[in-house]
Amino acid sequence: MLLGRKSRTRVGGKFFPNPPQARLRVVHIHMHHSKPEPLGRIRLVSTDFDGTIHEESAPEAVPSALQRRLAELQQGGVVWAINTGRDLGSLLEAMARAQMFVLPDYVVAVEREIYRREGEGFVPVEPWNQRCREEHATVYRRAAPGLRVLHKQLQGRFDAHFYEDDWSPLAVVARSNLQMDEIQLVLEDFCRTEGGLSAVRNDIYTRLSHHGYSKGTALSEIARLHDLKPADILAAGDHFNDLPMLDRQHAARLVSPSNAIAEVKAHVQKQGGFIAQGRSGLGILEALSG
Ligand SMILES: [Mg+2]
Repeated sequence: MLLGRKSRTRVGGKFFPNPPQARLRVVHIHMHHSKPEPLGRIRLVSTDFDGTIHEESAPEAVPSALQRRLAELQQGGVVWAINTGRDLGSLLEAMARAQMFVLPDYVVAVEREIYRREGEGFVPVEPWNQRCREEHATVYRRAAPGLRVLHKQLQGRFDAHFYEDDWSPLAVVARSNLQMDEIQLVLEDFCRTEGGLSAVRNDIYTRLSHHGYSKGTALSEIARLHDLKPADILAAGDHFNDLPMLDRQHAARLVSPSNAIAEVKAHVQKQGGFIAQGRSGLGILEALSG
């Protein structure tokens, strides 16, 4: 089985550098920093992992002050979910490497599968995961002929790496964010024509997904299991694949750390969300301190 996207440096015999820590596109936007609202009735916190609570190059990959706050919130009955594009194995490995001393109550992996913590382990949430797999198989089977043509076209046009994995019949690692911008347009066009699919991008990576499954719909499933409403939910993220959950349809309280990409900050701010002053975990701590 392939490792999660973040840990993949060697794919199909070709070497790809680790995703650049520094953003390739430096976008300066002038925005007023809002003040975080008090947490009030928030009962479910959904945080992305990479770039949101975890930053490999930071002195503490996941700040211990944030971890202490999350533990405190959990003791007060708040449910915490890590909502990531990584697969479960890759996330657990990164959490261990970051020496995390708190564990989330849920993990949403690959932007679609849900796992619930039981003791120190995580078990699949059913029937969600089973239905998710079946519906992906159906939509991928239907799209297969078109995907074969698309794959050839993309290979002819871009020197990116195109491959298939357990989650997507077509996945991409681009050479740069600029290249990914172009490829993403082609993929989105294909998804529009094909129907039922979306192209889920995170940095220089994109995979396909059933359009009914995203960080947003997975978050709402966790909310449903706990009988919670969007008004009870806070969501925090930094990149394209977080956009579906950074939506008031799923969470009333929206948060982005200062290192979030400009598109995400604009999306959050437009909906009255909070843009933190701090990077990743320290930024999220600002939002959770109220
Ligand atoms: Mg991220």
